[in-house]
Amino acid sequence: MEQVDVVVVGAGVVGLAVARSLALAGREVLVLEREAQIGSGTSSRNSEVIHAGIYYPPGSLKAKHCVRGRQWLYPYLSDRGVAHRQTGKLIVATTPQQMAGLPDIVRRAAINGVPDLRLIDRAEAQELEPALECLGAVLSPSTGILDSHGLMLALQGDLEHAGGTVACRSEVGRLRALGDAIEVHMLDGMVLRARGVVNSAGLHACALGAATEGLARQLVPGARYAKGNYFTLSGRSPFTRLIYPAPDPQTHLAGLGVHLTLDLGGQARFGPDVQWVDSADDLAVDASRAPLFEQEVRRYWPGLPPGVLLPDYAGIRPKVSGPGEPAADFCLQGPKDHGVPGLVNLFAIESPGLTSCLSIAEDVRQMLA
Ligand SMILES: Cc1cc2nc3c(=O)[nH]c(=O)nc-3n(C[C@H](O)[C@H](O)[C@H](O)COP(=O)(O)OP(=O)(O)OC[C@H]3O[C@@H](n4cnc5c(N)ncnc54)[C@H](O)[C@@H]3O)c2cc1C
Repeated sequence: MEQVDVVVVGAGVVGLAVARSLALAGREVLVLEREAQIGSGTSSRNSEVIHAGIYYPPGSLKAKHCVRGRQWLYPYLSDRGVAHRQTGKLIVATTPQQMAGLPDIVRRAAINGVPDLRLIDRAEAQELEPALECLGAVLSPSTGILDSHGLMLALQGDLEHAGGTVACRSEVGRLRALGDAIEVHMLDGMVLRARGVVNSAGLHACALGAATEGLARQLVPGARYAKGNYFTLSGRSPFTRLIYPAPDPQTHLAGLGVHLTLDLGGQARFGPDVQWVDSADDLAVDASRAPLFEQEVRRYWPGLPPGVLLPDYAGIRPKVSGPGEPAADFCLQGPKDHGVPGLVNLFAIESPGLTSCLSIAEDVRQMLA
């Protein structure tokens, strides 16, 4: 049987960041990815936003990893020549209730270690973004956008330079904890023996957790899937910053509301909305949602012309909480949590997982030290 030091299951942005971090620490790392190329999952179906760390409950893993991850990400992207831009973002209030909630957003962000938010009035918001309609807004200067595929290629490059390997078309079927090692059973029949295994299988992490012999089943959360559809704007974007509706304080949002993001070419897209689905493969964009999108977008951009939103792509959030429930935190389970030596499970790595990847990787490295 082949022996490996550490196997990372999944070559998304988080798996690659974890693998890189372990390889840089001198570990022998093999990444197993079931698809033909890296980044074929959620990591290439998101908003590509570098989040500041604003909304997450203080003390949560999302708050910690988003803020630290963002602080590490900007210099990393610059150093590796990965395309990115610190665009800034406006969180806009279009109702008195949302307006009343803006100071809380600024306070919470400060507690999370994001001290640079600023409340601005309607006139200043419109000076920054003339097409915008709102009662007031919060300006977040440290929010930005990045080329997520460029980031993954940079992580893979570092990993390989440090002696690690990525094997695509290599699907892991189940794991078996032996005490001093973990058997990795591939679907093609091959079995590897590893000292450490990181389950970074994204939407399939819960399924792999459930297929891990020796891991207490009650520690594996049930997977829930919340699809986010995107519509692209045909024509030029009237905005230069990202525009997010202020969260409604009364509701438990499964996403951040239908917002406007820009890609590095300046193309605007709207989304993601929240559509609960039963399957991790349900990635078709529901074109019939266009009128709903138009309605949401017109709250802050009344000048949206009719019929210019075109169905684009969708991504699925790997959730472990369901409709109407409070959003769950990232769930990083190491040997101290579940008692299985050498095993780390990464569940519910939804947004801001892209922003957080370098920070999550550091904690996983320590869990396996
Ligand atoms: C709609 C949407 C918008 C988002 N927007 C943002 C954003 O703007 N900013 C931000 O910071 N975050 C955002 N996120 C979150 C971010 O995209 C994810 O947190 C991040 O991509 C997760 O990376 P991952 O490596 O954990 O998962 P994935 O990218 O899903 O990677 C998991 C990999 O594991 C592989 N795999 C699965 N099962 C197996 C198996 N059995 N054997 C081998 N390989 C397997 C898959 O093929 C896949 O490549 C968004 C997410 C969604 C859904």
